[in-house]
Amino acid sequence: MTTFSELQLNPKVQKAIAEAGYENPTPIQAGAIPPALEGRDVLGIAQTGTGKTASFTLPMITMLARGRARARMPRSLVLCPTRELAAQVAENFDIYAKHVKLSKALLIGGVSFKEQDAAIDKGVDVLIATPGRLLDHFERGKLILNDVKVMVVDEADRMLDMGFIPDIERIFGLVPFTRQTLFFSATMAPEIERITNTFLSNPAKIEVARQSTTSDTIEQRLIEFKPTRRDTAAKNKRDMLRAAIEGEGEKFNNAIIFCNRKVDVDIVAKSLKKHGFNAEPIHGDLDQSHRMRTLDGFRNGSIKLLVASDVAARGLDIPNVSHVINYDVPSHAEDYVHRIGRTGRAGKTGVAITLCVPSDEKYLGAIENLIEQPIPRAAPPMEIEDNRRPRDEQRDDAKSDDKPRGRRRGGRGKPEEFQGDKDTASQAAESRSNERQDDGPRRERGGRGRGRSGGDRGPKVLGMGDHTPDFVALSFDERRGGPARDLTEDDLADTVEQETPAEEAPAPEEKPKRKRSPRKPKQKAETPPCDEVKADAPEGAPTEDEKPKRRRKKKVDEPAGDAAAEAPAADEAEKPKRKRAPRKKKTEAEAPPADDAQSPEE
Ligand code: AMP
Repeated sequence: MTTFSELQLNPKVQKAIAEAGYENPTPIQAGAIPPALEGRDVLGIAQTGTGKTASFTLPMITMLARGRARARMPRSLVLCPTRELAAQVAENFDIYAKHVKLSKALLIGGVSFKEQDAAIDKGVDVLIATPGRLLDHFERGKLILNDVKVMVVDEADRMLDMGFIPDIERIFGLVPFTRQTLFFSATMAPEIERITNTFLSNPAKIEVARQSTTSDTIEQRLIEFKPTRRDTAAKNKRDMLRAAIEGEGEKFNNAIIFCNRKVDVDIVAKSLKKHGFNAEPIHGDLDQSHRMRTLDGFRNGSIKLLVASDVAARGLDIPNVSHVINYDVPSHAEDYVHRIGRTGRAGKTGVAITLCVPSDEKYLGAIENLIEQPIPRAAPPMEIEDNRRPRDEQRDDAKSDDKPRGRRRGGRGKPEEFQGDKDTASQAAESRSNERQDDGPRRERGGRGRGRSGGDRGPKVLGMGDHTPDFVALSFDERRGGPARDLTEDDLADTVEQETPAEEAPAPEEKPKRKRSPRKPKQKAETPPCDEVKADAPEGAPTEDEKPKRRRKKKVDEPAGDAAAEAPAADEAEKPKRKRAPRKKKTEAEAPPADDAQSPEE
């Protein structure tokens, strides 16, 4: 086995490694460090958790230990797809370069340009950046890339997922032709292959651990369950999540809970908090300082449950995560491997629990194919309450009821949200009707659960005359038989989810027209259709942090990324110009435009 002392690293770097407690280089380090120190290009095919960050930072520090940077002319460049990864690389530099005098700067979105300009002006040896922010600085004339001697592209496959490849190609064109390139990717998609063929010169290729491998130290479990009713499916899932956490007992220390959609990250975190759990959300719509604070809290143990989207959490090195819970089965099989790899690190044991409802089954096959093993099934930690009435009871009702059956099952009486699912619709309508039977006052006010000619609908109204039927004064929810009380946050969450089932979210191309029906006042927490599309888009796809669209010519109604995040006021100010007719002042009940819904919640 190779030892660090055989690797020709600067003695001060060796000292820092020893202090970090590393005994031997990992395979990617043993493979990549020698050619990197020789000045060769390196193509490392390795995923996070393999020690790849040190495999490029250690030789870089050794090579840069001699010489000094000039103002605005960094001597090396590390490109990372997300702010968190860039910050993580910067932290690694601090650890490994603590005995070497090197300056570094971190250029990421969500942080003021002023501070970053000042750092660049002083001259930096190592510049760690996300592609978008780097190009912003370059375009503002604040950065000269002619002195870059080493360029690192980290997590190239994620760059591809996030649409950064054109930026990367552009940056390759801005740095000297003679620079050394260290290029890392977990997979070699054809597009990545093309880039490496174009920009790397005879690289040393080091490949470690296939992406499909899951660690033996992770105990995997699949909890399959079937919600009984569509309108309570989301609630059932959150109940199941809590039961799964509680069921772990002593074994449970902390967990990353992954959701497929950003909107669910917020809902799940909010719901957990409401039930007394110590949970915080993290996803790309939260501003950078908030994200860093949350991550720090999770790392130092003051936050126990991190509810995350893939982009926000993938690639992050968070030691000591006892559990990973897939609240949703990931729609990309590789994400399953990445997600569960957050636990069971460095030889420690971990548990990965995946909740699976029937609509998730389509993704499950692909995951089990990829990892080449079935995920062991576990009994659900709780039973789903069956709120439906038994069918024979319904049949009895139907027989004894003197109203025509067709009337009860469909037509005007059928609640909107159940259209297209007749069985469930009638069951749910029945169930609501049953609920109302305990709810005397509302029935008297004209609930319509028992049909128009039902004998229990309060005083008979003969014509309108001066009389105003009470139902006219009811809120929409009450008329639908919904709660007469104030909605709680959890109710709102349920509303959102009922209306935005993941499997029904439209594909981005089929951006639905926003409904303008004045009849249904929307709650603030409701998610407009456009948000569903964005939230459902592959994580980190252009909706994320540094996305390339930021530098596209801004369309009027497409405030993008950093610009939008950094200048919300300006953005808001532009909005009225787009409106054709003066509109009434927006109330909370109105649906926010999609872009608003995407902006940081803070
Ligand atoms: P990375 O793949 O770069 O995210 O690294 C994953 C984790 O492995 C980090 O916590 C590193 O501190 C740790 N690590 C990196 N190299 C070594 C090594 N040679 N020995 C032990 N731990 C290491």
